[in-house]
Amino acid sequence: MSDDIGLSLDELREHLEKEGIQPSYHRLKILEYMMNHRTHPTVDIIYKNLSKEIPTLSKTTVYNTLKLFVGKGIVQELTIEEKEVRYDTDTTQHAHFKCIECGGVYDVALEYTIVELGTVTDEGHKVIDCQVYLKGICKDCLKSAQNQIIFSKS
Ligand SMILES: [Zn+2]
Ligand SMILES: [Zn+2]
Repeated sequence: MSDDIGLSLDELREHLEKEGIQPSYHRLKILEYMMNHRTHPTVDIIYKNLSKEIPTLSKTTVYNTLKLFVGKGIVQELTIEEKEVRYDTDTTQHAHFKCIECGGVYDVALEYTIVELGTVTDEGHKVIDCQVYLKGICKDCLKSAQNQIIFSKS
């Protein structure tokens, strides 16, 4: 076993079949990309990176595949910005931190589960999704800001 967190194509195939998803080549490659790039990519980013290797891939296929994965609950959809949907293969409850400097989206551990999905609130509403978004300046940008002293407005 190597250190890298990536799963083999066989394991990914099993993962899809377990969820009743036909493990086509495109679906496997998209899932593999997402497992290996835990950066909450958008459809555009996944398409741009995979289309070099898979010329038959279309943006529509990427989009439809992600919709399928979200529907099956193996991927979650993040809508931190209304016009920019990102995708995450980590479907456990965790917060997302968006850096206003570099635009990166980082996972932030939650100390407790805010609400179990499926819970009916005191008001009688049923919860099917829970997203926690934080915004700020990521640790890398903070570091480079300190180095360059860009806080001065000159
Ligand atoms: Zn940043
Ligand atoms: Zn995440």
